[in-house]
Amino acid sequence: MTLPDKGRSVPARYKTAVLQRRQLSPGTVQLDLVRPHGFEFTAGQKIRLYRGNVSRDYSLASAPTAPFLSICVRIVAKGVLSPVLGAAKKNDSFSFTGPHGYFVFHPSNRHPVFVATGTGIAPFASICRSGVSGVTLLHGVRDLKQRYYAELFNRSAKQYVACLGSRKNPAQGTYPGRVTDFLAEKLPPGDYDFYLCGRREMIRDATWIIDDRFSGARIYTEIFY
Ligand SMILES: Cc1cc2nc3c(=O)[nH]c(=O)nc-3n(C[C@H](O)[C@H](O)[C@H](O)COP(=O)(O)OP(=O)(O)OC[C@H]3O[C@@H](n4cnc5c(N)ncnc54)[C@H](O)[C@@H]3O)c2cc1C
Repeated sequence: MTLPDKGRSVPARYKTAVLQRRQLSPGTVQLDLVRPHGFEFTAGQKIRLYRGNVSRDYSLASAPTAPFLSICVRIVAKGVLSPVLGAAKKNDSFSFTGPHGYFVFHPSNRHPVFVATGTGIAPFASICRSGVSGVTLLHGVRDLKQRYYAELFNRSAKQYVACLGSRKNPAQGTYPGRVTDFLAEKLPPGDYDFYLCGRREMIRDATWIIDDRFSGARIYTEIFY
């Protein structure tokens, strides 16, 4: 028996092209893409980008009102699509479906804590650009060059901390440990909504710590890989 495909709609497919490629750090680029007419999204959502038969998901980093769409891509060595994006030139064409996903901001009376690793910062850039401010933002980075969109977060976050792993002599505004160490040792007791985005292991470990230290907290997650 075939069940009717009730209520399932095929996502719209849009054509786009590269307007600009910007190097954010040695291994990461921002691509600004043509925003197709009629494409709307909520800050925090992602698109599924196609090149031929290959597709990968990318969170939008631009504001929902911006005239173009920005994505922030880490170039994965031996990856299929990200090296293509890392070398993309003006006018290179792609297609995408979307918007996809539910990793959007939920206003509440609890304090928002955004936690990202690497390019997991992208949806938070979009959310802050959409007008959300006063948040705590923890960004797990390997070095200071990976503090993507630092100017934006210095302006809009109440507390913005780049977590540098095990580095011993941190600069101002950085923490010499992982984001999970900060959650376990530095974040004071309180009522929080946590938004976690990036590596699966970080999200797993952060969830354990939050469950242990902050009962009653809400946790929203977006796993990149
Ligand atoms: C919901 C969602 C949103 C995403 N948003 C972004 C985004 O905004 N920016 C972004 O750079 N990536 C994002 N990704 C990851 C992206 O979809 C691709 O997986 C990534 O670009 C690698 O694709 P690839 O074809 O080059 O490598 P593949 O050939 O698919 O994979 C190669 C290997 O790289 C690993 N890998 C994937 N992503 C990373 C990474 N960032 N760092 C290290 N290793 C990785 C994979 O686990 C795999 O083992 C997102 C993924 C999901 C599921």
